[in-house]
Amino acid sequence: MAPQRIRFFLWLVGHDRIMKNSNRMRHNLTSDPSCKHCNVEETTLHLLWDCKTAKKIWQQIVLNRDLNSFFTPPLWHWLSLNLNPPVNSNHKWSTTCTITLWRIWRWRNIKCFENPSFEPWKPFEFIMTQSNTITKAMKSSSKIDVLLKSEKLIRWMTPPDD
Ligand SMILES: [Zn+2]
Repeated sequence: MAPQRIRFFLWLVGHDRIMKNSNRMRHNLTSDPSCKHCNVEETTLHLLWDCKTAKKIWQQIVLNRDLNSFFTPPLWHWLSLNLNPPVNSNHKWSTTCTITLWRIWRWRNIKCFENPSFEPWKPFEFIMTQSNTITKAMKSSSKIDVLLKSEKLIRWMTPPDD
Protein backbone atom coordinates (compact mmCIF):
# COMPACT_ATOMS: atom_id res chain seq x y z
CA MET A 1 0.00 0.00 0.00
CA ALA A 2 1.75 3.13 -1.19
CA PRO A 3 -0.29 6.30 -0.66
CA GLN A 4 1.98 8.21 -3.05
CA ARG A 5 1.09 5.87 -5.89
CA ILE A 6 -2.59 6.13 -5.11
CA ARG A 7 -2.38 9.93 -5.06
CA PHE A 8 -0.64 9.87 -8.44
CA PHE A 9 -3.27 7.49 -9.77
CA LEU A 10 -6.05 9.85 -8.63
CA TRP A 11 -4.27 12.72 -10.35
CA LEU A 12 -4.19 10.71 -13.57
CA VAL A 13 -7.89 9.87 -13.22
CA GLY A 14 -8.73 13.55 -12.57
CA HIS A 15 -6.84 14.59 -15.69
CA ASP A 16 -8.28 11.73 -17.72
CA ARG A 17 -4.78 10.39 -18.36
CA ILE A 18 -4.83 6.78 -17.19
CA MET A 19 -3.91 4.24 -19.86
CA LYS A 20 -6.92 2.77 -21.57
CA ASN A 21 -7.48 1.19 -24.94
CA SER A 22 -8.85 4.40 -26.48
CA ASN A 23 -5.48 6.15 -25.98
CA ARG A 24 -3.44 2.96 -26.48
CA MET A 25 -4.85 2.98 -29.99
CA ARG A 26 -3.77 6.62 -30.48
CA HIS A 27 -0.23 5.53 -29.54
CA ASN A 28 -0.41 2.49 -31.81
CA LEU A 29 -0.23 0.08 -28.87
CA THR A 30 -3.43 -1.67 -29.84
CA SER A 31 -5.74 -1.78 -32.84
CA ASP A 32 -8.86 -2.20 -30.74
CA PRO A 33 -10.18 0.72 -28.61
CA SER A 34 -12.87 -1.40 -26.95
CA CYS A 35 -13.12 -2.90 -23.48
CA LYS A 36 -12.21 -6.60 -23.38
CA HIS A 37 -15.26 -7.34 -21.25
CA CYS A 38 -18.03 -5.27 -22.85
CA ASN A 39 -17.29 -4.38 -26.49
CA VAL A 40 -17.72 -0.62 -26.01
CA GLU A 41 -14.96 2.01 -26.18
CA GLU A 42 -12.69 1.76 -23.14
CA THR A 43 -12.67 5.25 -21.61
CA THR A 44 -11.76 6.31 -18.05
CA LEU A 45 -15.44 6.46 -17.12
CA HIS A 46 -16.04 3.07 -18.64
CA LEU A 47 -13.22 1.19 -16.98
CA LEU A 48 -13.61 2.67 -13.49
CA TRP A 49 -17.40 2.95 -13.25
CA ASP A 50 -19.52 1.61 -16.10
CA CYS A 51 -17.71 -1.59 -17.02
CA LYS A 52 -19.62 -4.60 -15.75
CA THR A 53 -16.56 -5.67 -13.72
CA ALA A 54 -16.41 -2.23 -12.02
CA LYS A 55 -20.16 -1.87 -11.59
CA LYS A 56 -20.36 -5.21 -9.81
CA ILE A 57 -17.98 -3.84 -7.16
CA TRP A 58 -19.59 -0.37 -6.83
CA GLN A 59 -22.99 -2.00 -6.37
CA GLN A 60 -21.71 -3.57 -3.17
CA ILE A 61 -20.12 -0.32 -1.92
CA VAL A 62 -22.89 2.19 -2.68
CA LEU A 63 -26.30 2.08 -1.01
CA ASN A 64 -29.08 0.93 -3.33
CA ARG A 65 -31.02 4.19 -3.08
CA ASP A 66 -27.93 6.18 -4.15
CA LEU A 67 -26.95 3.98 -7.08
CA ASN A 68 -28.77 5.89 -9.88
CA SER A 69 -27.33 9.29 -9.02
CA PHE A 70 -23.95 7.71 -8.31
CA PHE A 71 -23.26 6.76 -11.92
CA THR A 72 -24.66 9.88 -13.64
CA PRO A 73 -22.40 12.91 -12.88
CA PRO A 74 -19.54 13.79 -15.28
CA LEU A 75 -16.09 12.63 -14.20
CA TRP A 76 -14.86 15.89 -12.60
CA HIS A 77 -18.14 16.33 -10.74
CA TRP A 78 -18.05 12.78 -9.45
CA LEU A 79 -14.51 13.27 -8.19
CA SER A 80 -15.31 16.50 -6.37
CA LEU A 81 -18.52 15.02 -4.91
CA ASN A 82 -16.94 11.86 -3.61
CA LEU A 83 -13.28 12.60 -3.04
CA ASN A 84 -13.33 16.15 -1.66
CA PRO A 85 -15.85 16.04 1.15
CA PRO A 86 -16.51 19.40 2.83
CA VAL A 87 -14.40 20.10 5.92
CA ASN A 88 -15.81 18.45 9.07
CA SER A 89 -17.73 15.86 7.10
CA ASN A 90 -17.04 12.15 7.13
CA HIS A 91 -13.72 11.41 5.45
CA LYS A 92 -14.31 7.70 5.58
CA TRP A 93 -16.44 7.78 2.43
CA SER A 94 -13.77 9.51 0.33
CA THR A 95 -11.23 6.97 1.57
CA THR A 96 -13.54 4.10 0.62
CA CYS A 97 -14.11 5.61 -2.85
CA THR A 98 -10.39 6.12 -3.38
CA ILE A 99 -9.57 2.54 -2.40
CA THR A 100 -12.41 1.22 -4.57
CA LEU A 101 -11.14 3.12 -7.64
CA TRP A 102 -7.57 2.01 -6.98
CA ARG A 103 -8.56 -1.64 -6.50
CA ILE A 104 -10.80 -1.69 -9.59
CA TRP A 105 -7.83 -0.36 -11.57
CA ARG A 106 -5.28 -2.78 -10.06
CA TRP A 107 -7.52 -5.83 -10.41
CA ARG A 108 -8.37 -4.87 -13.95
CA ASN A 109 -4.68 -4.63 -14.87
CA ILE A 110 -3.94 -8.01 -13.32
CA LYS A 111 -6.79 -9.56 -15.28
CA CYS A 112 -5.90 -7.83 -18.57
CA PHE A 113 -2.11 -8.15 -18.50
CA GLU A 114 -1.09 -10.88 -16.06
CA ASN A 115 -3.74 -13.49 -15.52
CA PRO A 116 -6.94 -13.56 -17.62
CA SER A 117 -8.67 -15.91 -15.19
CA PHE A 118 -8.01 -13.64 -12.18
CA GLU A 119 -11.04 -12.76 -10.04
CA PRO A 120 -10.65 -10.70 -6.86
CA TRP A 121 -11.39 -12.70 -3.72
CA LYS A 122 -14.25 -11.08 -1.77
CA PRO A 123 -13.68 -7.58 -3.24
CA PHE A 124 -16.17 -5.85 -0.93
CA GLU A 125 -14.58 -7.23 2.25
CA PHE A 126 -11.11 -6.50 0.91
CA ILE A 127 -11.92 -2.85 0.13
CA MET A 128 -13.71 -2.25 3.43
CA THR A 129 -10.86 -3.74 5.46
CA GLN A 130 -8.26 -1.67 3.65
CA SER A 131 -10.34 1.49 3.90
CA ASN A 132 -10.91 0.97 7.67
CA THR A 133 -7.20 0.41 8.23
CA ILE A 134 -6.34 3.63 6.40
CA THR A 135 -9.04 5.65 8.16
CA LYS A 136 -7.70 4.47 11.53
CA ALA A 137 -4.11 5.21 10.51
CA MET A 138 -5.09 8.71 9.37
CA LYS A 139 -6.80 9.37 12.67
CA SER A 140 -3.80 8.28 14.70
CA SER A 141 -1.37 10.10 12.39
CA SER A 142 -3.24 13.36 12.91
CA LYS A 143 -2.88 12.71 16.65
CA ILE A 144 0.84 12.23 16.09
CA ASP A 145 0.95 15.49 14.12
CA VAL A 146 -0.69 17.30 17.00
CA LEU A 147 1.79 15.72 19.41
CA LEU A 148 4.77 16.70 17.26
CA LYS A 149 3.51 20.23 16.91
CA SER A 150 3.01 20.61 20.64
CA GLU A 151 6.47 19.14 21.25
CA LYS A 152 7.95 21.71 18.90
CA LEU A 153 6.08 24.45 20.75
CA ILE A 154 7.48 23.20 24.05
CA ARG A 155 11.01 23.08 22.65
CA TRP A 156 10.73 26.60 21.29
CA MET A 157 9.80 28.06 24.64
CA THR A 158 12.78 29.49 26.50
CA PRO A 159 13.56 27.47 29.62
CA PRO A 160 12.44 29.22 32.76
CA ASP A 161 15.15 30.93 34.83
CA ASP A 162 15.68 29.54 38.26
ZN1 LIG B 1 -16.17 -3.02 -19.92
